[in-house]
Amino acid sequence: MLSRVNGLSRRYTEETLRLHLLERSARSDDGCLIVRGYGRQRGIYQKIAGRAWAHIASYAVFVGDYDPALDVDHLCNVKDCIEPTHLRQVSRAENCRSRPQQPQCRNGHDREIDTSTGRYRKMCRACNREAQRRWRERQAAEVARARAAVGVTQAAYDF
Ligand SMILES: [Zn+2]
Ligand SMILES: [Zn+2]
Repeated sequence: MLSRVNGLSRRYTEETLRLHLLERSARSDDGCLIVRGYGRQRGIYQKIAGRAWAHIASYAVFVGDYDPALDVDHLCNVKDCIEPTHLRQVSRAENCRSRPQQPQCRNGHDREIDTSTGRYRKMCRACNREAQRRWRERQAAEVARARAAVGVTQAAYDF
């Protein structure tokens, strides 16, 4: 599965790649998980772990079923975000088409209008909060599991 991620260094396993992504990222106030890739420029797509795009690597290990034929799209429009719930794969055609929008999200919350576009925000705040809560729980478990998998002692890392 990781072999589908272009440019990814072969030395990574799914577990060590998860750990690498978690170590290089920080949560922003609006719920994005901002990753620090090579170079100093922020706000653009970031490269990590060889020459892999961080958001694609994140999709592959945290969402799964990455299809290299499709784009990985940011629902939050933040290019250096790797928050799995902000990422989705869609066909290029679907990405360009603007479809009629539902006034509620798929979980029945009323959607908010994005004042800059006049359309509904793609991301639902209520769902986002819920996703973040689940993510924090999972992140703690992932880090513990990944550390154990690579044989790193708790004391060797200072999160
Ligand atoms: Zn985001
Ligand atoms: Zn919702």
